[in-house]
Parts: sequence; structure tokens; C-alpha cells
Amino acid sequence: MSIIKQIFQILASLLTFTLSTNIHGQESSAHYMANEGLMVEHGDTKILFDPLFRNDYGQYMLLPEEMEEALFAGAAPYDGIDAVFVSHHHGDHFSPADMVRLLREQPDIKLYAPNQAVIAMRSESSNNDAAIYERVTAVSLEYKDSPVTLNMEGLLIEAVRIPHSGWPTGRLDIENIVWRVTLNDDTTVLHMGDADPNDVHFAQDAEHWNRNNPHMAFPPYWFFSSTSGRNILNNRIKAKRNVGVHVPVSISADPLLRPVELRGFDLFTLPGETRTIPAKD
Ligand SMILES: [Zn+2]
Ligand SMILES: [Zn+2]
Repeated sequence: MSIIKQIFQILASLLTFTLSTNIHGQESSAHYMANEGLMVEHGDTKILFDPLFRNDYGQYMLLPEEMEEALFAGAAPYDGIDAVFVSHHHGDHFSPADMVRLLREQPDIKLYAPNQAVIAMRSESSNNDAAIYERVTAVSLEYKDSPVTLNMEGLLIEAVRIPHSGWPTGRLDIENIVWRVTLNDDTTVLHMGDADPNDVHFAQDAEHWNRNNPHMAFPPYWFFSSTSGRNILNNRIKAKRNVGVHVPVSISADPLLRPVELRGFDLFTLPGETRTIPAKD
């Protein structure tokens, strides 16, 4: 065998080794449930946002029954969930009794939620539930408080309170949390709850938004249909890709059948649909 051929063989095996052992080569994906409920996964790490709720207010989507059963049972694709994040205590995002049930039935899940939501869970709990609260982190943030950072194995968690849509006149008491979560130092996602699309809330923490830009953000669809919402996504959040959530059932899965202002954007509309999250540069 010639020297040159040997060198080629060595280079080829080194390249194969590098590709197969690059842990950051694992794909990340987002899996839609309903309304603002979704799962993000990278390698063995899986997190959920706003997965359990009971109220569609006559216009939003509820989880299909089989999906909800799989979630409580810890069956695929909801096996091995590491953490659940709740945006706020509203019936189309969060059901206190169901969250208590999930933590009872799935003893490895940790929960991160605004204090208001955790207080509501406590009134649905019995004396036997004390142990589940060891896995619950209640985030207590006022409007204009600095962002907080939390850590658990495989997750970097950053939380900011952004007012609920309706600000400055309505729903001011609702603790709406925007969660930015990085999985395995690799994939960063942003879930916004029912954030109000006014730049004044985001200008407040300009430096926070300017770093750790998400690979994928999940804004409520009204960020796409307002100029200020689009500016916040483009100039503050700067995600590689946005997928809109909280889409009313009256809005079609087919972009051509949507209101003009929503045709050019990617929306989650069908339970179980997925997106590949673009990799880091
Ligand atoms: Zn809400
Ligand atoms: Zn909502």
C-alpha cells in the first residue's frame, strides 16, 4: 500500500471518529401539543412548556386525549421528561390540579412556574403531596425585576417577567414569565407565554436579550401581526427561527387560507407536528 493511500485512510478514519463523537451534533427538535403547549428535546434531555390546561375559551386548541394520556403515563414521546415550565396561571395554559397529578405520577419531573401558579397548586394538594414540592421551583418576579438564572443538570434556565397582553390596562396582576432555556449547553429556546408586544418591556433588559440569542423562539401569534411585536423579535430576541403559538382554531393550518398578515410566518397549528431546531453556527 502506498504511503499516500495510507495517509488517506488515516484521515478518513479520523474524520469518521470526529463526526460520530461530536455530542453537539445531536439534533434538537420542537414538538407541538396544543395552544402554547410544546416539547423541546436535545439528546436525552426533554422539556415541556405549558403542557396541561383545561380551558379553550371557545377559540383555542386543547390537547388530544391520547396525547394527554401519554403525558400522564410517561409514554413516548413524553418518556423521560426532565422539566416542565409554566408561563402563567390562566386556564388556557395551566391547570393546577392536573399539574399536581403529573408530578405525583411522574416522580422524575421538575417544575418551574410563577409563584401564582404554585400557590394555586397548593390548594389542589393533599397533605401527602409535600414531597412533590421538593421538585417545584416557584419564580417570584415583579414587572421590571432583573432576570433570574437557575440551573439544573443539562439546563440553563433564565426567567423574566413580561406583562400579559392587555398591558397597561388589563391583567396586570398576572405573573407572565418568559423562559429562555438552554439544553446541554447547545440549544436555546424561548417561550413567551402571553407576553405583551410592547418594546418598553424588552428595552428594560436590553443586555439580557442581546446575549444567548435563541435557536428557536415560540412567540404568541400576535407578535407577528403587530409592528412592535415583529420589531421585538427581529431586534431584541433575534432567534434563528420563530414558530408562532396560541393560534386560534379559526386560523387555518394552510398559510394561503390565513389572514394576510399571518401568511408569511411559521405557525404551530396541528398537535404532534414538529420542527427541527437549527444548529449553532
Ligand atoms: Zn393568559
Ligand atoms: Zn393565553
